[in-house]
Amino acid sequence: MKQTKSSEGLYIIVPRQERQMDDKKNRAWAEINTDNLKYNLRELNKVIPENGQIMAVVKADAYGHGALEISRILSAEGVQAFAVATLKEGIQLRQGGIKGEILILGMTDTKCASTLKKWNLTQTIIDFNYAKKLQEENVNVKVHVKIDTGMGRLGEPYNQRENILKIFQFTNLSITGTYTHLCAADSFEPYDVAFTYRQIKRFYSVIDKLRCSGISLGKIHIQSSYGLLNYPELHCDYARIGIALYGALSRENEILKTKIALRPVLSLKSKVALIKDLNEGDTVGYGHHFIAKKQTRIAIVSIGYADGIPRNLSCEKGYVLLHGQKVPIIGNICMDQLIVNITEIQNNVVCGDVVTLIGQDGNENISPEMFANNTGTITNEILSRIGDRIEKIYN
Ligand SMILES: *Cc1c(COP(=O)(O)O)cnc(C)c1O
Repeated sequence: MKQTKSSEGLYIIVPRQERQMDDKKNRAWAEINTDNLKYNLRELNKVIPENGQIMAVVKADAYGHGALEISRILSAEGVQAFAVATLKEGIQLRQGGIKGEILILGMTDTKCASTLKKWNLTQTIIDFNYAKKLQEENVNVKVHVKIDTGMGRLGEPYNQRENILKIFQFTNLSITGTYTHLCAADSFEPYDVAFTYRQIKRFYSVIDKLRCSGISLGKIHIQSSYGLLNYPELHCDYARIGIALYGALSRENEILKTKIALRPVLSLKSKVALIKDLNEGDTVGYGHHFIAKKQTRIAIVSIGYADGIPRNLSCEKGYVLLHGQKVPIIGNICMDQLIVNITEIQNNVVCGDVVTLIGQDGNENISPEMFANNTGTITNEILSRIGDRIEKIYN
């Protein structure tokens, strides 16, 4: 205990800081397997062409894995380029000491030009008008020019040749890269494959024209995870890799052109807070959606939708692992808690037992793909929505 003089001159007691490590497994946490992250990086690097590099996409807190910690590990493993979605995410990496290129994929207000320069961040040119406004800020800013080849999101449309040419003539833009984004590289449907090839063709037709005019384009990049794994023949300077680094694909049982065995990096865990016995007719949770048909034992688990567990896993749509066995989620998932039916479990569950939401427990495993599939979405959404309250433990 430490004594400090208050403003009135009285001595008050300031409790010593609690030990952080023990706190981390008190409620709900993510275990980040850093060996698996390094393994995925090595496997993906084998697919990258010679002279190419991985640009690690660490937006949205590195898909819930912790942006700064993940970037530090990847830096130490030789990654020299990172991508984030926002200015703030970029600054946070710089403040944490991350070196190399940091590309902001999203829109940053052009009024922030000097902030971009101050932190040595590279901004995406999202279209011609944006380039013009950024030029007018009179600050020399590093940028990558984005060409929209069919995604219909950010980028100057590929057929606006004159505008694209003008972007490359703005004197305050220091252009160190040119890129596009594929919108259906995950699919082998004939229409999607044809569309992807059309996007690639549109992109190369634009950049070949620019090169012929003697314009330097900087680093060229097209592929994200699926782009790299399904179109590995493209020889770009960067591949912007997000989900695959974290050892997941967007969906279950997907076929890829490249044979690669990725290892999931994140496990999501929580604890049993309380155990209760219900009699026939007793109900559980908001809207009393669960009604016990017989003597039932339930466990209250300290994780909820504010932590990233989708509410549509309520009422037995989802399950968790406890003592190496599947137990169903019953009733409605709450903001901070959920309830599971442990009647069928032989082992004696006690308060404090670990509950696995994503990951391995005994012989059972819930992969991020299975979890996402249960809620009708993709792993990218599940991982990136893991809430701030989830403590992160790096093993
Ligand atoms: C998020 C994002 C990526 C990473 O995509 P993954 O499928 O996670 O590899 C790449 N490029 C852009 C433009 C993105 O927005």
